[in-house]
Amino acid sequence: MAKTYYDQDANWELMNGKTIAIIGYGSQGHAHALNLKDSGANVIVGLYEGSKSKKVAEEHGLKVYTVAEAVKQADITTVLIPDEKQADVYKTEIAPNLKPGSALVFAHGFNIHYQQIVPPADVDVFMVAPKGPGHLVRRTYTEGSGVPVVFAVHQDASGKCFDLALAYAKGLGALRAGALQTTFRDETEEDLFGEQAVLMGGVCQLMQTGFEVLVEAGYPPEMAYFECFHEMKLIVDLCYEGGFTKMRQSCSDTAEYGDYMVGPRIITEDTKKEMKKVLKEIQDGTFARNWLLENKAAGRVNFLMERRLHAEHPIEKVGKELRAMMPWLKDGADLSKD
Ligand code: NDP
Ligand code: MG
Ligand code: MG
Repeated sequence: MAKTYYDQDANWELMNGKTIAIIGYGSQGHAHALNLKDSGANVIVGLYEGSKSKKVAEEHGLKVYTVAEAVKQADITTVLIPDEKQADVYKTEIAPNLKPGSALVFAHGFNIHYQQIVPPADVDVFMVAPKGPGHLVRRTYTEGSGVPVVFAVHQDASGKCFDLALAYAKGLGALRAGALQTTFRDETEEDLFGEQAVLMGGVCQLMQTGFEVLVEAGYPPEMAYFECFHEMKLIVDLCYEGGFTKMRQSCSDTAEYGDYMVGPRIITEDTKKEMKKVLKEIQDGTFARNWLLENKAAGRVNFLMERRLHAEHPIEKVGKELRAMMPWLKDGADLSKD
């Protein structure tokens, strides 16, 4: 078993007298800033001129500066803007202002691992990557629990980078749940594989295709939505609480028999082969290159077209109508205010 670190393993005193600049105030940014501030750290926020997030951060009681100005003041700079924008902002605004002996922090290894950002030798570089969306990182902190993290040291200039990373994770509330040490490489590759093959790519395509099969066979879209989409959460909650075993115990034996007989016909040996290919393309940098090119050369046209097509899919239309009848669901809520 890999060693898991908890609150008693971290030394929060290391944060004494240090200023933490959180660059970006989106999903992760607001959670890091507010949790670290509530833990007692001196936190400031760095944003570009005209950023939509500025007002939100100020309403939350934080001082907002330009990225360059925030980095100048910082002993710890955390880069929490979208991965595809980090390299440009790093080159123009972060690198020229980074204090020797300070620390540079990431929540995902992408830019360091694929060498889009190459920090100078005189700064600490570490990662604290929450294993959950930013809004949960904030909400669980306020509730007294936390989202687990993986953390990694890329460059230890001060000789204290490991301890600093643990202290940072503690301030985030993550050590209530546990922190696992990893490397930038493993975190990047596992994270990309997980979201592509399983959590988003795999699961969304599975739900959507199941819905299409039922609707094309003449079943009402509302029923197809409940069956292939809505129920997913109920099933996943049971797995989350007690593994596949608890989920299967809670379902009928008929369902369980169908699960064993049909599952391998849907996710086949060919699917597994394709997953391995996906992992290779992550490991050899093909995926990263394509995504960076899509952002630069293609101006995100393919990405934006896919986003529009998926948003227009009938499963989204019928889902919106049905969820409107379930007022306890927070559809349409502004996540940044969570
Ligand atoms: P978001 O897309 O939520 O961050 C957007 C924020 O960055 C906004 O405040 C935006 O301002 C600001 N921003 C955009 N461009 C610039 C710029 N040029 N200069 C300064 N600020 C800018 O990012 P995420 O929180 O999703 O991701 C941040 C990092 O965390 C990434 O490395 C990601 O991989 C990692 N991560 C994210 C997770 C998540 O839950 N989303 C989970 C684990 C890791 P504006 O409001 O004006 O657009
Ligand atoms: Mg990710
Ligand atoms: Mg059923």
